[in-house]
Amino acid sequence: MSSSLSICLYCGSSNEVDPSYLDLAKRLGETLANAGIRLVYGGGSVGLMGAAATAAHEAGGSVLGIMPRFLLSQERIFDAVEHRIVETMHERKQMMFDESDAFIVLPGGIGTLEEAVEMLSWARLDLHSKPMAFLDEDEFWKPFFELMGHIVDGKFTPMAFLDLFAHVSTPEDAIEALQVRLDND
Ligand code: AMP
Repeated sequence: MSSSLSICLYCGSSNEVDPSYLDLAKRLGETLANAGIRLVYGGGSVGLMGAAATAAHEAGGSVLGIMPRFLLSQERIFDAVEHRIVETMHERKQMMFDESDAFIVLPGGIGTLEEAVEMLSWARLDLHSKPMAFLDEDEFWKPFFELMGHIVDGKFTPMAFLDLFAHVSTPEDAIEALQVRLDND
């Protein structure tokens, strides 16, 4: 695994979720750190974001958080790691994209979905070819994949679009799926 790889994480900011989701985020953070992969994320200490970043940092990994100023207190900036403050959500998303080679999407809410779908739509427009892996242990993202299949069945999007992303259930498989796609690029 190349030590210069950076992976952008999109995931939920809620603290109210089942602890199994926080545990998966923690294991992903540890796995990225142990693989020498930098974690790029939204910069917060809350929810799955905080669990992944704290675990990566405590395991000795490199972490970059990118946070819009107006969310500093709400998402509680994790200032023990390198972080950058931007002014808008658009700047945050652009910087997370620019700083990363690939994306992992953990369970999350509307913000997670929005970020992942925007990156997929940019890929659909050939603006980038950075791969994405959806990681869950309980088929959390299954309805999203059903919707994608429905869209493809209706010929709104070509079948090849489905190759842009993987659906995996362990942190190790997420890294492997992204690495295979990066190597084939
Ligand atoms: P959620 O999945 O709703 O908990 O949100 C996950 C993260 O996505 C949070 O840090 C949100 O601030 C962030 N987020 C929501 N919408 C956007 C957006 N348009 N651009 C960048 N980040 C966003």
